Amino acid sequence: MYKDDCIFCKIIKGEIPSAKVYEDEQTLIFKDIAPKAKVHLLAVPKTHFKLISEADDEGKKALFHTLSVIPEAARKNGCENGFRLVVNQGESAGQSVFHLHIHILGGESLPW
Ligand code: 5GP
Ligand code: ZN
Repeated sequence: MYKDDCIFCKIIKGEIPSAKVYEDEQTLIFKDIAPKAKVHLLAVPKTHFKLISEADDEGKKALFHTLSVIPEAARKNGCENGFRLVVNQGESAGQSVFHLHIHILGGESLPW
């Protein structure tokens, strides 16, 4: 489920602190450390996998669950007027943490 050298697994296990805004058995949502919008949250399925294409059954379930809890968490954290979801997949897309995560961007009018 977890990967020892993964920074998001360490955040999930509480070994690295984070500003959590939502947590349940399958999902953690916390503030991005280097926000690229007024509100920038990261929604993370707790089980470790890098790419959507690599998700096993547990990963698929956790990913769908994560998507389903995002709207309320976003609304409660400053995205009442909408939000954008971004998933970077692979190095050329800019993925820098190889534990699948969904960027939640909002709190302002977003460009493009
Ligand atoms: P990626 O580039 O992989 O799509 O996104 C990784 C995101 O994780 C970046 O937006 C980066 O700012 C964020 N990030 C990296 N390390 C940490 C950390 O230790 N804590 C938090 N809260 N965010 C992090
Ligand atoms: Zn991980």
